[in-house]
Formats: sequence, structure tokens, C-alpha cells
Amino acid sequence: MNVRMTKPNDLSALAPDYIRSIAPYQPGKPISELVRELGLDEASVVKLASNENPLGIGPRTRAAIDAALGEICRYPDGNGFELKAALAARFNVDMNAIVLGNGSNDVLELISLAFLMPGRSAVLAQHAFAVYPLATQARGARAIVVPAKNFGHDLAAMARAVAEDTQVLWIANPNNPTGTFAPAGEIEALLQAVPPRVLVVLDEAYSEYLPLDSKYDSVKWLKRFPNLVVVRTFSKAYGLAGLRVGYGLMHAAVADILNRVRQPFNVNSLALTAARAALDDMEFVARSYATNLQGLRQLEEGVQALGLEAIPSYGNFLTVRVGKAAEVYKRLLRRGVIVRPVAGYELPEHLRVTVGTAEENVRFLAALGASLKE
Ligand SMILES: *Cc1c(COP(=O)(O)O)cnc(C)c1O
Repeated sequence: MNVRMTKPNDLSALAPDYIRSIAPYQPGKPISELVRELGLDEASVVKLASNENPLGIGPRTRAAIDAALGEICRYPDGNGFELKAALAARFNVDMNAIVLGNGSNDVLELISLAFLMPGRSAVLAQHAFAVYPLATQARGARAIVVPAKNFGHDLAAMARAVAEDTQVLWIANPNNPTGTFAPAGEIEALLQAVPPRVLVVLDEAYSEYLPLDSKYDSVKWLKRFPNLVVVRTFSKAYGLAGLRVGYGLMHAAVADILNRVRQPFNVNSLALTAARAALDDMEFVARSYATNLQGLRQLEEGVQALGLEAIPSYGNFLTVRVGKAAEVYKRLLRRGVIVRPVAGYELPEHLRVTVGTAEENVRFLAALGASLKE
């Protein structure tokens, strides 16, 4: 008779060390969870924890989702033709240079899945977006973490850190959770300095929020640098975080490889339809941009008035040094305000707050002021 030796607890031991040592991603606390925990009135809770768009979604997007509901019994278009065609026209690239993802997070995962493995390494910055070390570690690759400069990426040092076995270099511009930004010239210099065999992943989740004088055209670099991958998302300025849709622009040869490891239907039909419509909701994106710039100023002035220092931000969030951040975070929760602790990013004294509506920003600043005095 076959004796079954494996106890359930032993099963986790069978996963590779590099998987077992992963510290899972810590998402922002959902409103429903805080309501359950503290018995607060749901309508009174302000969530400024996940860099979501406080304006919701645009009118065209909403109409497109409504119209597409009846079709969710069908599988989505696994090639995402309509959305890719619209993106190709918008950015003047070929459709086969686009990879769609279940959120841009999915594109980052696909890159790691296709190009990283034990014996290879990836370069990333201290305080960089958490998905880069996670996706690197999940493939058993080594992360080369380059110390930050003024909380931002030190791109020259990152280029120098590239090793023989380096396959990917991760950049967030602007970076989350620091909000720091590297101007176009620095990125271009890095692209010139890095060996062409290294994929440079330029994650531009917040590019729609960049002030006009900081905007740059990374897509035009794709022709000169076939090792560049530009990653963007519909989760932030387009307001579609819950539907999960993002994309990467890259050389067709790289896209071909990513498509081999992509789930056949990785982007759902509502997400495809909504993103296609959202691309044309220009007025909504413009309003999101304007609301954010104003709100960012409101938060900057507000925290300064409280005697706090913030890292200058180019995104839709502000990261503020509050001292005992874990304690202040809890006090804010009790006042119905959810922000994001960033101790896991080696920023134990900071909290990250997303720019909300003017009213939400006022609520946060009042709650923060009261929490500091507590
Ligand atoms: C929010 C964010 C993303 C986008 O995530 P999605 O999976 O598209 O929702 C990607 N990169 C950074 C740096 C982000 O902050």
C-alpha cells in the first residue's frame, strides 16, 4: 500500500527558498475592512491609501462599461485588438509592440517571468515600487538594490551597478511611494550607459500627472533603444484601478516573448472596453490632472503648516515625515482616514497620502493635525 508521507505542513517546505522568503505585498486597507474593524459609518471613511483617482471614472468610460455588461458571458478578445489599435494610433507604434496586462503589475510580472531566473539579477533602487523586488525574488533572481539619492533613484549609480548576470533594470518615474522624478536627460543617459542586453523597464504609472514642464516622450526612445520597455496603466489618472488594465510598449521581439507567457485572456472584457473608451475621455484626464495639481499643493501647504516635511512629489500622492508613523497611522484610522504606511520601503517615519478631492484633503489634514497632538 502506498503510505502517504507528506504532512500538510511539509508542503510549504517544498516551495523553493526564494518563494518561502517572500514578504507579501501590503495593499492599502480597504474601506470595508476598517468599517468592520471599528464599526465606523462607511460613508464617513476617507481612503487615501492606494493612489486611486478621487474623481472616479469619466462619462464615456461609464457608458462603455454599461453597454458591455451584457457580453460578459463571452470570453474577452485575447489579443485585445481594439484597445491595442487605439494605443498604437495614440503612440504611433505598431500593434505588435504592445503587450496588455491585468494591470501594469501583470506586465511587470510577465517581464520577470520571461527574463529572470536563478543565476540572473535585476537592478532596482532603494525605496522603489515594491513589485520590482517581489517579481525579481519570485523568479529566484538576485536583486541588486542601489541606495537612493534624496529619496529618488540614483540612475548613474544604477547604471554602474549592472553586473554580468543582470537582465533587467527597474525604474519607476515618478517613483511610488516617494513621488520622486528623474528628468528625461537622466533617463536617456542611463539608456546610453546600460549594455543593450539589459532590459530597462521604465514604469510610468503616473506620467499623466506630470506637470507640463516635466513631461517627456519616452516612446520615441523605443526606436533607438530596443531594450527599453515603457509601462503605463489605466489604474491612476484614468480611474480604472478596480478593473485592472495596463500595457507595455516595447520592441516587437520582446513583446513576442511576453505574449508566450501571458495568460490567453489576461485582460477581462470590461477592462478592455473601459480602457478603450477611457483613452478618449480626454476631458476627464485633464480634470484629473488639474484636480491633482491643486490637491497636491493643498496637501503640501497643509503639512507644512503642521510643521512637517514632505518629499516633493510628481505623482498623485505625497509622502510625509510624521515621526512615529505606525502610531500616527492608527490614530488616523480611528478618525476614519486611511493612508499608507511605508515602513516596508525603509521609510519608517513616513506616511504616504493620496491626493483626494479638496474636501478629502481637508479631512486628512484635520485628522493628521489632531493625531499629532494626541
Ligand atoms: C500604481 C502603480 C502601478 C500600477 O499598478 P496597476 O497594476 O496598473 O494597477 C505600477 N507601477 C507603479 C510605480 C505604481 O505606483
